[in-house]
Amino acid sequence: MADTGPEAMSRLIVDLDAIVANWRQLNERSAPARAAAVVKADAYGLGAIPVARALAAAGARTFFVAHPAEAAELRPHLPADATLYVLNGFTPGDEAAMAALNAVPVINDLGQLTVWAKLAERLQRRLPVAIHIDTGMNRLGLDAHEVHQLGENPHSLRGLDLRLWISHLACADEAGHLLTHVQAGRFANALMHLPIAPASLANSSGIFRLNAAERQALTRPGAALYGVNPTPEATNPMQAVVRLEARILQVRSVDSGQTVGYGATHTFAKPAKIAVIAAGYADGFHRALSGKALVHINEHPCPVVGRISMDLACVDITGCPTPIAPGAFALLLGPQQSVDALAGQGGTIGYEILTSLGRRYARLYQGGALAEAKA
Ligand SMILES: *Cc1c(COP(=O)(O)O)cnc(C)c1O
Repeated sequence: MADTGPEAMSRLIVDLDAIVANWRQLNERSAPARAAAVVKADAYGLGAIPVARALAAAGARTFFVAHPAEAAELRPHLPADATLYVLNGFTPGDEAAMAALNAVPVINDLGQLTVWAKLAERLQRRLPVAIHIDTGMNRLGLDAHEVHQLGENPHSLRGLDLRLWISHLACADEAGHLLTHVQAGRFANALMHLPIAPASLANSSGIFRLNAAERQALTRPGAALYGVNPTPEATNPMQAVVRLEARILQVRSVDSGQTVGYGATHTFAKPAKIAVIAAGYADGFHRALSGKALVHINEHPCPVVGRISMDLACVDITGCPTPIAPGAFALLLGPQQSVDALAGQGGTIGYEILTSLGRRYARLYQGGALAEAKA
């Protein structure tokens, strides 16, 4: 990975023990289903390899990524008995590469199923497969017509090792949303007409919204593992996982009437002190957070002033009770500011904050000692 070393200006600290604790909690809440771990997009930007290793050491045996390339990178770091699903499946022509991966493609239409079955026949190998059924998201998965067709022709699965049926919820983050239970009903109904295999419906929020029967055999939490609140209407039941600290590069004084940054969007009404921090939109400190985000310096909240640029942002430290010098850190994410709180300031969601963190931080991992000892 291209992560920069400890000489990097700013640092991202990932608490692997908190991720493990979150997985254990989600696994308990999923019962009698088991919880998998969704580690797509480099474990939501936090590092798929260290995260999956820590979770495997804690007992997780089922993992999901989105792309075949993600599976290829992660597979050698998983225990031999772990199952790795690839949500996006394969594209036409890439099925042989998929079969070589020791991963299970999630098939999203009947055409792909035919290609996969043909390959199994040619290789004389029972290839593993998962099948996605669309129940209302209208993104990936077999539509109602294809579900019916497959129910009528279960022999299209001949020669394949059917491991899992999945469907995906559209509105589980909203408490009491009707579509969640409509989807659960459609999924259960579809499964009655299809060959028997374990089934999986819940993402992080789904674990909290569905009853035990609706949760089926396996849940697929992603965001909640990484500390995003799966129940946004209530207190976050998950442990915080990330701490993001940006280095203060310079401290300067400005007079009243002066402006700061590109576009001169902020004018100081009184003389002020500003700190320039080493985090910009290239580091996932989104430009949309300009004039909106808070950072904490010595636990004191300081507003971002003016536009956030590619590598830098300016914060108003006039009200800080303690002296601030270059080399100190400003806290962007941590005990004083959750991922969800920062996301809210920028009009986005915690998922996007985490997955855009960028590659320029020194990444430090805490905990996960057992995973390291086994490595
Ligand atoms: C990303 C994803 C998940 C995980 O969702 P979270 O909301 O992050 O828990 C589960 N299932 C599918 C199909 C996904 O694409």
